[in-house]
Amino acid sequence: MSLFAQYDPQNIFAKILSGDIPSARVYEDARILSFMDAFPQSRGHTLVIPKVPASNLFDIPAEDLQNLITQTQTIGRAVREALAPDGIRIAQFNGAAAGQTVFHIHFHIIPVWEGENEHPHAAGTMSDLNELKDIAAQIKAKL
Ligand code: 5GP
Repeated sequence: MSLFAQYDPQNIFAKILSGDIPSARVYEDARILSFMDAFPQSRGHTLVIPKVPASNLFDIPAEDLQNLITQTQTIGRAVREALAPDGIRIAQFNGAAAGQTVFHIHFHIIPVWEGENEHPHAAGTMSDLNELKDIAAQIKAKL
């Protein structure tokens, strides 16, 4: 898919937004949704997405992008408080060539612990939804 492909309203995150696909939700308001990544690179891997339909960083209105990164900071702080990792990586990919696999813009919040191996990006087995909901509840409690 091209970096500048049109937004597909049937993408997985649009279905998570509509509730058609279940997710372990951390936070929701009128403009954003945050939920656990189902194929986490590490324990606590959290995603933050806008409600506005935008494929990537270059499609999203600047105001929505500003809100999205500010919310990523807030939720990232809650991840840090809840899970006490040694570091947190914030990641965002644009276009398949750059590693993007879901074409609804999102920020990854990836906790990192020294000496612990991470799972590869967008690969591996799906985590159990109830386990993800437990971690989501721990993060939510720090918001
Ligand atoms: P991207 O590769 O586009 O930057 O990231 C997409 C992310 O969505 C990946 O980390 C992948 O694990 C995650 N993902 C893919 N399908 C699902 C799903 O059905 N539910 C959730 N919660 N995450 C998903």
